[in-house]
Amino acid sequence: MQPLTEEQVRSALVNATADERERLAVPMSFVLADWDHLDFFAWLDPRARGRGYVIVERRGIPTGIVVRAAHGSRSHAALCNMCHTMQPGNQVALFTARRAGAAGERGDSVGTYMCADLGCHENVRLAAPLAPSEVRASVDRRIDGTRQRVESFVDRVIGAEWRR
Ligand SMILES: [Zn+2]
Repeated sequence: MQPLTEEQVRSALVNATADERERLAVPMSFVLADWDHLDFFAWLDPRARGRGYVIVERRGIPTGIVVRAAHGSRSHAALCNMCHTMQPGNQVALFTARRAGAAGERGDSVGTYMCADLGCHENVRLAAPLAPSEVRASVDRRIDGTRQRVESFVDRVIGAEWRR
């Protein structure tokens, strides 16, 4: 990804209210982010419980969404729909995102299960060892797949009605 400033992150959000955009807080790791090596940037707001953000590049343009974690944790393990890591029930959460534009104003939202810490970018890399070449190839596929799934979730939030 190209490096982003906090201001760019705010203006990249497509489904945020003015209030959410203003109150957004970036994580401690933001200033240390190694943007060259990031496929997307996702974090939980350190000041607003249950609120998170996912920023991807769509056709070279930084595009972000606000997501909210549903309350309550699951009792059994579940698969994160983004990085496909099997997580214990308390480490996976249903996140919903208000759709951008008119659809969002009508109350439409989309949801998916994701790692509760939104750490998919790291989790997909931690999940498998780097040793033999076959393993390496499958890790690469999972990493690519994760990026594609995150992008398509952002696409679902944007929907066909979105106009910049
Ligand atoms: Zn995940």
